[in-house]
Amino acid sequence: MDIANKILLVILDGASDRPVKGKTPLQLANTPHLDKIASMGISGIMDPIAPGIRPGSDVAHLALLGYDPCDIYTGRGPFEAAGAGIPVKKGDVAFRCNFATKKNDVIVDRRAGRIRETGELVRAIQKGVHLDVTFMFEKSAGHRAALVLRGNGLDSNVSDSDPKHDGEAVRNVRALKPDAEKTARILNEFTKQAEYILERHPINVERVKANKSPANTIIMRGAGTVPDIKIFSEKYGLKGAVIAATALVIGIGRICGLNYIETKGATGGVDSNVDAKVKNAIDALKKHDFVLLSIKGADEVSHDGNVKEKIQFINKIDDALALIVDLKDVLVVVTADHSTPVAVKDHSADPVPVMIAGPGVRADGVRAYDEVSAATGGLNRIRSMNLMPILMDLINKTKKFGA
Ligand code: ZN
Ligand code: ZN
Repeated sequence: MDIANKILLVILDGASDRPVKGKTPLQLANTPHLDKIASMGISGIMDPIAPGIRPGSDVAHLALLGYDPCDIYTGRGPFEAAGAGIPVKKGDVAFRCNFATKKNDVIVDRRAGRIRETGELVRAIQKGVHLDVTFMFEKSAGHRAALVLRGNGLDSNVSDSDPKHDGEAVRNVRALKPDAEKTARILNEFTKQAEYILERHPINVERVKANKSPANTIIMRGAGTVPDIKIFSEKYGLKGAVIAATALVIGIGRICGLNYIETKGATGGVDSNVDAKVKNAIDALKKHDFVLLSIKGADEVSHDGNVKEKIQFINKIDDALALIVDLKDVLVVVTADHSTPVAVKDHSADPVPVMIAGPGVRADGVRAYDEVSAATGGLNRIRSMNLMPILMDLINKTKKFGA
C-alpha cells in the first residue's frame, strides 16, 4: 500500500548541535541506520518554535505534538506533576519541587544529599499538612517531587520559593498578580507545615545521626496551570502512546492524552536501555496509531559539554534504531526537540534536522542524518508546529481547506 496508517515519532532530545572543529556530533557519529532512513525519506531542518527562539524541552515537545505552547504553556509544573503520576485536571496549579536541606534558614543543599527514600516523607506530608484547598504531593525521581493545588480562586502567577542556588534562604512565595494572593499564601503555609513535619520525621532524624543532609524543607518552582486542551485522540483521531524515561515527557504525553508505556531499564541517561525502548515502541505500534519514542541521553551529556560521550551515545542510538528501518505501513519520523550544542552546554535556537520515511513520501537526495545534510532536503525549513499537519496529510487524514 502506498499510504502509511501509523506514525512513529522518534525524538532524540538535544542531539542536534553546532560544528565542533568543523563537524557536528551527528556528522561525526557512525550512523548507518539513521542514514538509511534519510536516504529512503525526505529531510529538512526545523525551528522548534521560531527562528531565534531558544526553547525548553517542555514547549519544544508540545509544539512537536501540534499544541501551540504560546497558547497553552504557563509553566513546567503541570507536566512534571502528571509525569510523577498525579492525576491532574484542567485548572489545577502545579509546581516542581525539590527536597532540600536548610540550616539556620539558609539552603545548604538544594538536593538534600540526593536523597532517594522520599516515599514516606511524601506520605507524611500528604497526611499531616492541612490547607484551605485540596492538594496532591507526589515523589518524582531522586530528590524531586511535584505539588498540585486544586480548588477555587487559584492562580499560577506566583514567584518560586526555590532560590536556585545554595547559600540563600527559602524565598517567600509572592503573588505576581493580585489574583494570585491566595495561592501565594497557601504555598507559604504548605512550606511551613511541611517543614514542621520533616524536621521531626524519623528518616531525617536518622539522616542527621548518619551525618547525611536531612530533607528538612521543600522548595518550589515552575508554577503552571494545567491547560484546557483537546486530547490527542480527539484532535487527530489517532490513538497515541508515549515511551520515555523523564517525568517531563511522560507528563506531556499524559496531559495530551497519550498512553504511557513503561520500559524497564530506561533511565534518561546515556546508560539507558535504548534497545528495550525501541522494541517497546515497535510493540506499541500494534495497538496504537501514533507512538512518540523519546530518547534523552544526548541532551544530558550536551549539558555537561561532553562531545565524546555525545558521539558515543548517538552511535548507541543508531544501533538500537536498526529495528525501525524496515517497518511496514509506518511513517518513521526522526528529529530532535531542540539543539543542545556541547559548546554552549545549554539549548540553543538552532534548527534541528528532521526526516520522514515511509509509503508515499517523496524521497529526496539526502543520504545522511545530520544538521547540514538535512538542510539540503525536500522539506526545506519548517517549524515543529508544522510537523503533525504534514504527517496527518501523509496518512491522508487532513480535512480539505476550500472545496
Ligand atoms: Zn529537550
Ligand atoms: Zn536540556
